[in-house]
Amino acid sequence: MTQPSQTIQAIAVSPGIAIGRVLRLRTHSHLLEPEPHKLAPEEVEAELKRFHTAQEVTRKQLTELRERLRTRLNSQDADIFEAHLLLVDDKMFVGAVEKGIREDHYTADYALYQATEHFAAVFSGMEDEYLRERGADIRDVASRIMDNLSEAHNHEIGMDDRRIIVGNSLSPSETAQLDQGKVLGFAVETGSATCHAAILARSMKLPAVVGIPPELPDSLSAADKLILDGYTGKIIINPDARTEEAYRLKAEAAGALYNKLEQEKTLRPETTDGFMVQLAANLDTPEKIEEVKGSGACGIGLFRTEYLFLNRVQPPDEEEQFEVYKHLLIAGGDNPVIVRTLDVGGDKFNTNLYRTAEQNPFLGLRGIRLCLHERRDLLETQLRALLRAGIYGNLRVMLPMVSSVQEVLDVRGMLEHLATQLDHEGQEYVSRLSLGVMIETPAAALLAEHFAPLVDFFSIGTNDLVQYTMAIDRSNERVAYLYRPTHPAILELIRRTVEAARRNNIWVSVCGQVAAEVRVVPLLVGLGVHELSMAPASIPLVRRAIRSMSMHEAEKTAQEALRCSNAGDALALSEALVRRCAPEILNI
Ligand code: PEP
Ligand code: MG
Repeated sequence: MTQPSQTIQAIAVSPGIAIGRVLRLRTHSHLLEPEPHKLAPEEVEAELKRFHTAQEVTRKQLTELRERLRTRLNSQDADIFEAHLLLVDDKMFVGAVEKGIREDHYTADYALYQATEHFAAVFSGMEDEYLRERGADIRDVASRIMDNLSEAHNHEIGMDDRRIIVGNSLSPSETAQLDQGKVLGFAVETGSATCHAAILARSMKLPAVVGIPPELPDSLSAADKLILDGYTGKIIINPDARTEEAYRLKAEAAGALYNKLEQEKTLRPETTDGFMVQLAANLDTPEKIEEVKGSGACGIGLFRTEYLFLNRVQPPDEEEQFEVYKHLLIAGGDNPVIVRTLDVGGDKFNTNLYRTAEQNPFLGLRGIRLCLHERRDLLETQLRALLRAGIYGNLRVMLPMVSSVQEVLDVRGMLEHLATQLDHEGQEYVSRLSLGVMIETPAAALLAEHFAPLVDFFSIGTNDLVQYTMAIDRSNERVAYLYRPTHPAILELIRRTVEAARRNNIWVSVCGQVAAEVRVVPLLVGLGVHELSMAPASIPLVRRAIRSMSMHEAEKTAQEALRCSNAGDALALSEALVRRCAPEILNI
């Protein structure tokens, strides 16, 4: 059954238009109790077959996932899926499900549920912590088989076509695993433009929206067709032919403009009066380096190393990290490669790295805090790998979530200690490491004058700066309306940061999502930011914006915006400048 045509307004978080059928997202952690239906004796064999088919599909999916992770430079450790594969064929587990069907005449769904709950309870009662955690693995595997059981009911639609994912939420690690060959885009309930799932979507060029009604995923089936408009946040369910055609034309027009802008990639990103603004790329996974090279970026402005640490049991060791950083530095040539040290916590989570779960992970031991307190070992390993790799290119290292000067001093102390260690071992390393801090807490912005003499550069992380200044959880769609980077408080913090950098003769970049928002670019340029770092796909648009305006106009606009009392007025001033000098980039 398909739904009647209707339009839903959600929140746009990754640009582009996707048109395709629905793939409802499995929720890994929840295994809902099915109805305990009894089968007639003659139905038992067919039910067993249904279970075995779902088991086989699950085996195939997990093998594919494992292989995909193995082939990535950052995920040689595909242990999680290896363990899950073993469970799919575990004799005791499978035997219990088969017994439930054959002897108790339960449906495969109910027999699977019963067996899962039984084994999960056995594991959670064990003393050994490792074994206790295997209970979660059983539930995860079972929920995958359960989904495949329901897919097994529905054979009308081949799963070979690319689909639009619709679900309640996507974690950053789940998003990182999406197969771009199978996914057209996604629409989920939770998140915002700056949540990490959205950041990854932009880097994967997948249109995405968040803030869909919670009941939407359940009301759709695989037969429903969607238009997902990642520019406006609209979702159109089962559109009529005219609407679909209009959206196809819109997608074509956007594609044509992007193609045209891409041809400008060798042009210098400078204003009409000759001020150069460096455009760098944000990188989430090392294999995207080729795309960065083709984007006309002047280097890597932010490599989020935490993705090397997600979706795995053991963190990458020094050698594995060394190889990744060396590869990037060699690929980068003379261009700067800014590697950010591990920033797990918040919504990027790997429970294997933490001692305990936190009530408020965005305000907890995130980023440099974890690395200087509970897990100094992780930072030491990472810095050793970086120091060694630094001889292969133009390396810069920056620290996330810094809120006090002492944290920088601690890292400097650690670097000295590691350099001595490497000396003793006779290892080669970079003797002068360029070190910067992210300005992403209000404390860091307010103290920029004190940080500046200790570091070589600042990089303003507006995603978090907005979150912590405005007191809005960046992954909560209910407060997404408060995400206003042109809010006077944010502009003032950026102004102070740039001023402190200028007085101390260091450079300053913006690497949060706002760097790619063409409507806001005049304010960032006018405030004196030297570099904007963003998803490679956004670089052509921002280059056109910069090349169309003068520094004189941008500065004037920024000064006026600083005097505004609200975000809307400041944005209107900035947008008016873009509309005057490059209206074509506002029309998509
Ligand atoms: C930021 O906070 O703006 C930033 C670039 O870092 P992340 O989005 O990874 O927190
Ligand atoms: Mg941040």
